[in-house]
Amino acid sequence: MAVKVRQKRQKKKRDDILAEFVYNRGSVSEMKTEKTKETGEQKMKAYDYVVIGAGLYGAVFAREAVKKGKKVLVIDKRSNIAGNVYTEQVEGIHVHKYGAHIFHTNNKKVWDYVTSFAEFNRFTNSPVANYKGELYSLPFNMYTFNKMWGVVTPEEAAAKIEEQRQAAGITEPKNLEEQAISLVGTDIYEKLIKGYTQKQWGRPCTELPSFIIRRLPVRLTFDNNYFNALYQGIPNGGYTQMVANMLQGVEVRLGVNYLANKAELDALADRVIYTGPIDAYFDYSLGTLQYRSVRFETETLACPNYQGNAVINYTDAETPYTRIIEHKHFEFGSTEPGTKTVISREYSAEWKPGDEPYYPVNDAQNGALYEQYKALADAEGKVLFGGRLGEYKYYDMDRVIESALARVRAELAK
Ligand code: UDP
Repeated sequence: MAVKVRQKRQKKKRDDILAEFVYNRGSVSEMKTEKTKETGEQKMKAYDYVVIGAGLYGAVFAREAVKKGKKVLVIDKRSNIAGNVYTEQVEGIHVHKYGAHIFHTNNKKVWDYVTSFAEFNRFTNSPVANYKGELYSLPFNMYTFNKMWGVVTPEEAAAKIEEQRQAAGITEPKNLEEQAISLVGTDIYEKLIKGYTQKQWGRPCTELPSFIIRRLPVRLTFDNNYFNALYQGIPNGGYTQMVANMLQGVEVRLGVNYLANKAELDALADRVIYTGPIDAYFDYSLGTLQYRSVRFETETLACPNYQGNAVINYTDAETPYTRIIEHKHFEFGSTEPGTKTVISREYSAEWKPGDEPYYPVNDAQNGALYEQYKALADAEGKVLFGGRLGEYKYYDMDRVIESALARVRAELAK
């Protein structure tokens, strides 16, 4: 009974914190009058740091700076915190509003850091590939090879891959297609990689960098764990709650557009941490970097279990979406099957102004343009650029945290 009351109280406290974030909106002029103080001759800055973006990078930076006694204001143009890891409750299920996020890392320090803000479940990502109704295990492992070729031993699987690699005549892979074939052979490339990758990136695999496919493990073992990571899981209570915990005690203003109010906001602090798109910061003056955007079609269904797994990839070229996420399956260990489920079909599209940017397209052309923007960014004395959009990098969540921690520590050591 006492435990229940405590849990209820804790939940109320959590809800209060979230409510505060939701309602803590304000106009820029209001912030100025509240915060800018004149002391004699000298105009004192109201904050040490203004952080643009309440996603993981911004939240980690803010948390660490506040811990060291700095005055920090975090703003976000959205009406919610947590950036693209934002989760919201629908039918009691934490829905990953901006796409599935599965935390995984090999860095114990990062794991200890995130688990100090939330308890993590033991979800292990094991997506299934659906190729025209044929189901295959991912990542590419002995289950996949057995289903594809009927091979039973690792030796047989390795021999089959080698045979297909030799037939394709690839010695030094120059692009994603050649890299994929040399890793897993032509059959797997044709059925499980080609269609999915071309849908996800909107470009032929011959024009994509090979590092994208090297994100996926290839294993000669019966192991469906998608990630080669020592630590993996999803925060109980959702990512929004985890980020809210990071931002506890930090002043957050939502619904504030930095680029539209840049001069006033810059004047509030000595330093600005900018986590938005780097090209947008410079008003696209050198041209636009390319991003992929994602559109989600989310539906609540009156069925307890729609697809039996959190992630099913549709790897053929014809199905218009890349994958279907069934959010309840991320909540590992939840014993309540419920009568409803929430699914999201994920459609990939080229980013255009007004869309949400998700993935930087890290090919040679965009890399070169980014370097030019980076040179401009380095010359911006008081503004630091960070995160997936600020650094135009296909960062996973752990790398974002790693990079924010390194940056804030270097900054505070000055
Ligand atoms: N990939 C693939 N088939 C799959 C899953 C992934 O070919 O069924 C390749 C594809 O090239 C993709 C990359 O692996 O761009 C990374 O995919 P993932 O879905 O892991 O990326 P995420 O969107 O989760 O970052």
